Amino acid sequence: MELIKNKYKIRCEMGACRNMADYVLVMDRSGIHSSICMCAECAEKLKAALCSEPKDKPADELFASDEAPAPVAVRKKRKIAGSSAVSGEESA
Ligand SMILES: [Zn+2]
Repeated sequence: MELIKNKYKIRCEMGACRNMADYVLVMDRSGIHSSICMCAECAEKLKAALCSEPKDKPADELFASDEAPAPVAVRKKRKIAGSSAVSGEESA
């Protein structure tokens, strides 16, 4: 596994972060799809997280810090654009 400098215009893939990715974490012997793009900020956070002792925390607490808001389940509803709003009768 290797952390390399990202030179492409890719967004950070860590959580809901929307920064441009500064680094790419590349897994060994795998293709481009097994790489994780991250910005310097997230790389620092990841490093800090990895360096810290794993704690037996309930999953809820893991996401309770101010910096990392709890992941919100985004439900994408498909918008039915206009089709039902327009009356079915077509005036000819
Ligand atoms: Zn980021």
